[in-house]
Amino acid sequence: MSLKYYCRMCGTCCHEVPGDYVKRIPIYPDEADRLIEIAKEHNIKFQIIEDLVFPDIKNEKILIITYRIRLDNKNQGCPFYNKQSGCTVHDSKPLACQAYPLALKRIDAFNFEISIDPLCNFVISNYDELKDLDIERLKEVFKDEYPKAERFYQKNKKLIFKIRKLEALKKIEIPRQISLEEFNVYLQQWEREDLSI
Ligand code: SF4
Ligand code: SF4
Repeated sequence: MSLKYYCRMCGTCCHEVPGDYVKRIPIYPDEADRLIEIAKEHNIKFQIIEDLVFPDIKNEKILIITYRIRLDNKNQGCPFYNKQSGCTVHDSKPLACQAYPLALKRIDAFNFEISIDPLCNFVISNYDELKDLDIERLKEVFKDEYPKAERFYQKNKKLIFKIRKLEALKKIEIPRQISLEEFNVYLQQWEREDLSI
């Protein structure tokens, strides 16, 4: 099998997909700051929404690991996407976009793994060949994207490690079980803190 990934430049990954699925382009707080600056410089309406967060019941704070890009209402697309030229922030693209169609799949509250996003059009067309790839073949097929996915994974891992370290030092406390009602109350009432490394 000599399959190699290439981007078809269809722009699907920069837009909402029809159906029940909600598009998630995760960005770290430092990436969000950079994109906010770029948006200001170019007068682009850019908004972010909290994405991966943990409630710290010791300090009554919401710790933010990632935000996600709010898609624009009219086109349901990333505000940095241009129909003619595609992504307009190529050099400052978030790690999630650099690694795509490789993505981080959440296994449980604290663990993630590198996986292939099934919504990419290249992946859809080659699904049968891609669905059972082992790690070595994954690295070959996604030769340029895999190192970026690895960086994405490592950054996530360091942030999760930081949370666990703060927990071990008893500086924060993250509940292992929490009801949706409680979590919603915390989200409404508590201050936010970006977690960065
Ligand atoms: S930053 Fe660029 S690649 Fe990422 S979603 Fe926006 S337009 Fe697409
Ligand atoms: S959906 Fe896949 S093929 Fe289409 S632009 Fe995104 S990465 Fe490229």
